[in-house]
Amino acid sequence: MAKKLYIKTYGCQMNEYDSARMADVLAPLGYEPTGQVETADMVILNTCHIREKASEKVFSELGRLRHAKRDREAAGQEMIIAVAGCVAQAEGSEIVRRAPYVDIVLGPQTYHRLPELIARAKRAADPSRRGIVDTEFPVESKFDHLPETHAASGVTAFLTVQEGCDKFCTFCVVPYTRGAEMSRPVEEVAAEARRRVAGGVREITLLGQNVNAYHGRAPSRFIGKAGTAGEWGLGRLARHLAEIEGLERIRYTTSHPHDMDDELIEAHRDLPQLMPFLHLPVQSGSDRILAAMNRQHRTADFLRIVGRLRSARPDLALSSDFIVGFPGETEADFEATLALIREVGFVMAYTFKYSARPGTPAATLPDQVPEQVRNQRLDQLQALLREQQQAFNTTMIGRRLPVLLEKLGRHEGQLIGRSPYLQSVHLEAPEASIGQILPVDILALFPNSLAGRLASGHAGARERLSA
Ligand code: SAM
Ligand code: SF4
Repeated sequence: MAKKLYIKTYGCQMNEYDSARMADVLAPLGYEPTGQVETADMVILNTCHIREKASEKVFSELGRLRHAKRDREAAGQEMIIAVAGCVAQAEGSEIVRRAPYVDIVLGPQTYHRLPELIARAKRAADPSRRGIVDTEFPVESKFDHLPETHAASGVTAFLTVQEGCDKFCTFCVVPYTRGAEMSRPVEEVAAEARRRVAGGVREITLLGQNVNAYHGRAPSRFIGKAGTAGEWGLGRLARHLAEIEGLERIRYTTSHPHDMDDELIEAHRDLPQLMPFLHLPVQSGSDRILAAMNRQHRTADFLRIVGRLRSARPDLALSSDFIVGFPGETEADFEATLALIREVGFVMAYTFKYSARPGTPAATLPDQVPEQVRNQRLDQLQALLREQQQAFNTTMIGRRLPVLLEKLGRHEGQLIGRSPYLQSVHLEAPEASIGQILPVDILALFPNSLAGRLASGHAGARERLSA
C-alpha cells in the first residue's frame, strides 16, 4: 500500500521548490503526498530561519507532532519525522536533543540523501532515540543526485538555478544556513525548463537566494567559441531559455542590486518573455544604514540601476524588501527610507522588523532600536506601501492586459490568472483556457486582486500574446 507523505513548508519559494523535490525523491519509495498529518507515515517540516522566533515555532510544531506520532505508534503505525531547511541547518543536533522523537535532521544541501537517511533511521536500535543529523555542505551537488522533476500539472513553476550567498549582509543568516554561492549549469537548467514546458508550464520563475549572481557553466557547444565565456550570467541564461517554444513568461527572484549587470538589463530590453515586474531588495534608504548592513550599494547606486532598468523596460514595476529598526536607525534614516520608496514608486514590498539573528554581526551592535519604535515604523512603512500599491493597481482599471490563466476560481465559471505585473486577476472564462494568455479588460479593484472581463472576441480562443 502507498505510504503517505506530509510536508509543511515555511518561508520562501525556494523552500517550496525544495519541498517538491523532496517529494520527487521519495516517490520511488512509494510515498504519496497527503494533506492530513494524522495519516502520514512520513512528516517533513521544511523550515525557514528568516522570521522572528523561527526556531521556537518549529519546536512548538514538533510538540504537536509528538502526540500524532505517539497515536500512530499506539495503533501499530509509523510516523517518521524529519526537520529540513534552514532551521535544521542552524540548530542541527539541538533539535534531536530538545525533541528526541525527531528521526532525521537534514540541511538544504542534503535532500538527495533522504532515502538513505530514512533507511538508517529505520535500522536504529532504539526507535525512540534515533535522530540522525546530516547538515553537511557536501562536495557533490544535490542537483546531480535528485531525480528529474515530475512534470507537475500547473501552468507556472519555480526552478532553482542558484543557491547560497556570499554577500554576508550583517543581519542575515542565509550565508551560514545555505552556504556559499553555487549555480547550476546552463544545460541542466534548460533541460528542466524544457521538461516543465512539455508538461504544460507556461511561466517559469528562476529562483536563487541571490539569483542574479548566477554564473552557470555554459553549454559545451558554446565553450571556447570566440567571445563566449565558459560561464553565463542570468541575462544570458534568460536569453537561452526564451528560445524554448511554449515558454511564454520568465521571472526571477531574489536579486541583489550589486549583481544587476548590463546583460541582465539588456535582457529586460530585448526579451518580451521577461516580465516587467522585478523584486529588487534595497532594505533601507539611508546610506549610513546600508553601510552598516554591508549591502555593497548606496542609495544613489540603487537609483542609477532603477533608471537603467526603466530605460530598458519603461513599464517595469518594482517591488522590494525593507527592514525597519536596524540597530542605530534614527528617525532621519527611516525618513530616508520613506523618501526612497516614494522616489522609486515601489508597487509592492515585503517589510520586516529587524530581529537579531544569533551569530550574525548585527546581533551584537549597540543601539538596538526599541520594539515600540520598530512597530511604529513598520506601520508607517506599510501604510505608505499600501497607498502606492493601491495607486498602481488603480491605474490598471480600463486597461487591457495579457493575463496568463492559471487555475479555477472559487466561484462557478471563474478563473484566476496573473497580469505581467504579478497581480492576481479574476474573470469569467472557460476552464479550457487555463494555460493560455488572453487579453483581459480590467474593470475593478479588490484589496488583493483585479477583476476583469475577457476582451470581446476572445472567448477563450487560443492565441499568443506577449506581455
Ligand atoms: N537575498 C535576498 C536579498 O538580498 O535581499 C533575500 C534574503 S532573505 C531570504 C529575505 C529578506 O528577509 C531580506 O531581504 C530581508 O529584508 C529580510 N531579513 C533577513 N534577515 C533579517 C533579520 N535579521 N531581521 C529582519 N529581516 C530580515
Ligand atoms: Fe542575506 Fe540576501 Fe544579504 Fe545574501 S544578499 S546575506 S541572502 S540579505
